[in-house]
Amino acid sequence: MLALENIAYCATILIANELPTASPACHAILQEVFGYAQFRGPQQAIVEHVVQGGDALVLMPTGGGKSLCYQIPAIARQRAGHGVTLVISPLIALMHDQVGALHEAGVSAAFLNSTLSSDEAYQVEQRMLRGDITLLYAAPERVTNPRFLALLDSLYDRHQLSLFAIDEAHCVSQWGHDFRPEYRALTVLHERFAGVPRMALTATADALTQDDILERLQLQEARAFVSSFDRPNIRYTIVEKREAVQQLLRFIEREHEGDAGIVYCQSRKRVEDVAQTLVDAGIHALPYHAGLDNKVRQDHQNRFLREDGVVMVATIAFGMGIDKPDVRFVAHLDMPKNIEGYYQETGRAGRDGLPAYAWMAYGLQDVVNQRRMIDESPAGEEFKQGLRGKLDALLGLAEATDCRRVRLLAYFGEQLGDGPTYRCQNCDNCLNPPEVWDGTDAARKLLSTIYRIQQSSGMSFGAGHVMDIVRGKTTEKVTQHGHTSLSTFGIGADFSEIQLRGVLRQLIALGAVAVDAQAFNTLQLTEQSRAVLRGEVPVQLRESVSTPVSRKSKRPGAGSAVVKAPIALDGEGLVRYAALKAWRAEVAREHNLPAYVIFHDATLAAIAKRAPQTLDDLQGISGIGAKKLEAYAQEVLRVVSLT
Ligand code: ADP
Ligand code: ZN
Repeated sequence: MLALENIAYCATILIANELPTASPACHAILQEVFGYAQFRGPQQAIVEHVVQGGDALVLMPTGGGKSLCYQIPAIARQRAGHGVTLVISPLIALMHDQVGALHEAGVSAAFLNSTLSSDEAYQVEQRMLRGDITLLYAAPERVTNPRFLALLDSLYDRHQLSLFAIDEAHCVSQWGHDFRPEYRALTVLHERFAGVPRMALTATADALTQDDILERLQLQEARAFVSSFDRPNIRYTIVEKREAVQQLLRFIEREHEGDAGIVYCQSRKRVEDVAQTLVDAGIHALPYHAGLDNKVRQDHQNRFLREDGVVMVATIAFGMGIDKPDVRFVAHLDMPKNIEGYYQETGRAGRDGLPAYAWMAYGLQDVVNQRRMIDESPAGEEFKQGLRGKLDALLGLAEATDCRRVRLLAYFGEQLGDGPTYRCQNCDNCLNPPEVWDGTDAARKLLSTIYRIQQSSGMSFGAGHVMDIVRGKTTEKVTQHGHTSLSTFGIGADFSEIQLRGVLRQLIALGAVAVDAQAFNTLQLTEQSRAVLRGEVPVQLRESVSTPVSRKSKRPGAGSAVVKAPIALDGEGLVRYAALKAWRAEVAREHNLPAYVIFHDATLAAIAKRAPQTLDDLQGISGIGAKKLEAYAQEVLRVVSLT
């Protein structure tokens, strides 16, 4: 098994050595076909290596630009007479759009999956055998089926099998979050078609999974290309949960009017409720969860991909392989299970590299729920301990008062700048360093109260009651149980409920208070409590900033007619941008493709800024390759001239 150090070692070498200059052929393809001026990060090194026939493991965060890493070698190798590239992907639903995007760029591509009739599939196979296809997308079960393997044999015998690109390669691993047994059978490629280069690509940063991929796919000899997993354009923000849905509404109305986004919730019911609340507030929101009819789900996904500014409210059933580049925010109304999940879900924002937000509301109930789910799961104790460890890391991130990005990347074994003291200046804690107060005294008072209640009555009570006693509130329940006579009654009268709630949340996060789900969520002391009582474990809390409750008054027509460009545009520029977007929507509808496949927002905005009058004026705008220039230049110039 290749140890992780080896992966890190390869990466260091790559960074340390000057990258080779891109071969003219690959650079020309990047410019001519895709309309991009430069390779991003390690793309160039990967492309060079694979074009020359090397095997590769590509670890790159979502949005890093993995597709070009196999698409450019596929085109280059096909031009050099090596034949077809097979792209293996589990995401049948997305193959259509991926192939559509290649067609738009003038590349011959096709897919083979269960959505095709047998006649259509036959036609594709024939085209492949004739050498008419540069990239063929197929699901793993198709690729490893004996009949299809026989077709590949005939290509192989004629040296017309150029490259295997195994996308979402973490599916091969049981450690990954999307294990697909069909991926295991892919070793046949190596055994049967020796010498054909293979690449495995994934955005999973987890070390165990990475090792597993190499072993399972027998890629030990492959060169590993590890990118930084930082997503500098994403702004991480974690707020204290009060009225979560109202907080979300304010966040969308203030920062993201008219933007596409994803809102993750824990349950189906909550998805439905939140989607309805957003719709009532005039936001174009749709629900998505596994309980919806298959057709409805597919329809909602299509509308999210194809229409502008849809907010998808979803459970984690949604998102794998969603490669929509202009998702401007990902919001979590409920806390995920671990940092892997959080990072994967937030990673769906801002693939286009433009500013994007990851926003999460986090509160006491989240901690209680997640702890309970682990306790109640039927898994063995050792496994549960593993889950608790992962949850604790996420709780640490949520409670953090220093840079979130530093913590996130440290979790994946990556150090940013000079380490813990580094400030990214693009997370809530860096932008508005929170006031921190020492909650040790409040924590002691809460813990002693839980202890005294237990001692005096042999009973346990929930968070609300305990806080009432600490604050000296004579509620009916407090009086009824005689808790006014406890020595701790009123010892924390100077703390606000919000402060105590924060302290309690952190105590639960630290494991210093347990919540008994079997007994009405009552609070119990644990072994950890003693350490806090002794002052051995610091309880540091952020000062709660009370956010104003008033909502921004709505602009007329809000949610529908807002034009927001990704770069600064003057009034006329915005008019051109809006006209170009309307034109793009029409083309996308005619071609049955998502709008971003025609042109990205950033490309339209660059056109709007330049206000081109001639074909020459369009040269060099990022995202306009030769084929798109030929297909759309006249139209674009016409739209611009009419505004
Ligand atoms: P991944 O599969 O790694 O999540 P994609 O391959 O979908 O990422 O790429 C993310 C976005 O970045 C796409 O919209 C792609 O067109 C764009 N992109 C990739 N490489 C470049 C580049 N060298 N220059 C400009 N844009 C790029
Ligand atoms: Zn930061």
